[in-house]
Amino acid sequence: MSRRKQNDIEQNDTGITDFKSLLKKQGYSLAGRHSAVKTCLWLRRSIKDEGECYKSVFYGIHSHRCLQMTPTLMCNQKCLHCWRPTEVDVPMPVGWDSPVEIVGSSIESQRKLISGFGGSAPLERWQEGNDPKHVAISLSGEPTLFPHLHELVDEFNKQGFTTFVVSNGTVPEMIAKINPSQLYMSLDAPERETYEKVCLPKSLSLWDNILRSLEILKSKETRTVIRITLIKGVNMFNSKGFAELIKIAEPDYIEVKAYMHLGFSRKRLPREAMPSHSEVMEFSKELAEHLDYKIAGDVEVSRVVLLSKDGSVSHLM
Ligand code: SF4
Repeated sequence: MSRRKQNDIEQNDTGITDFKSLLKKQGYSLAGRHSAVKTCLWLRRSIKDEGECYKSVFYGIHSHRCLQMTPTLMCNQKCLHCWRPTEVDVPMPVGWDSPVEIVGSSIESQRKLISGFGGSAPLERWQEGNDPKHVAISLSGEPTLFPHLHELVDEFNKQGFTTFVVSNGTVPEMIAKINPSQLYMSLDAPERETYEKVCLPKSLSLWDNILRSLEILKSKETRTVIRITLIKGVNMFNSKGFAELIKIAEPDYIEVKAYMHLGFSRKRLPREAMPSHSEVMEFSKELAEHLDYKIAGDVEVSRVVLLSKDGSVSHLM
């Protein structure tokens, strides 16, 4: 099959017809053949010294030095709350770039993306932004579907980055292999039935994979986080069920976040599905009680609450 043909994506109601317009529509910059980089709102604010995201408050990550990337835009779920166009199938790349190439092309893409801030940001912060120190391997797409993710994480670590990986937990073999500074796993349902409604997995066996990943998380030496995205009227119930699953993983931290009505998720969920910060806090308190964890912090503007075993959190940078 020709490369062009392989990169073709069927047109659908998103109006997207090919891989390049998919990236453009989502504001991504292609890095190498299959990776993507995107700057977030907080990077743009931080480079101008106008505020930082909740990861700065919780973990000491400076937003203007944070490189947000993914080695693949493919995913094996079609979550209702995902801000990417899950209706569009991302084709399998014709070949994989090496981890060294991906690190290099990601930094290069980030520099291009922030080049326009040269005139409006304080010089020191702009220079720091050109020298990223933290990578969040998360964007859209499931990073554990990239078969060399463990080597990519090692390469970023070797080059002096702190590394976050955010996974949906459906590839337990890769969860076992990777060693980022902080490993996140999303947990979007308190049991299988809700999982299938919220995450629309491409295979029904993925829930069993998630349960296996929770077990693997327990034995990881790296810092671990379970992330719950609460969607009102969809998965915001049964805090006890969530707690029973979280007990399997015994994570260092739990991040409870509100669904945000952004991107393509607006086609699937109403604005009212976003819980308020106080509703997220209330659910987090219930969870903390079931688990004997404590509230370690919260950031109202991001509608996120952090739980830890002893109520404290240590910065990584
Ligand atoms: S797992 Fe992540 S990338 Fe995949 S559909 Fe769900 S939210 Fe989107």
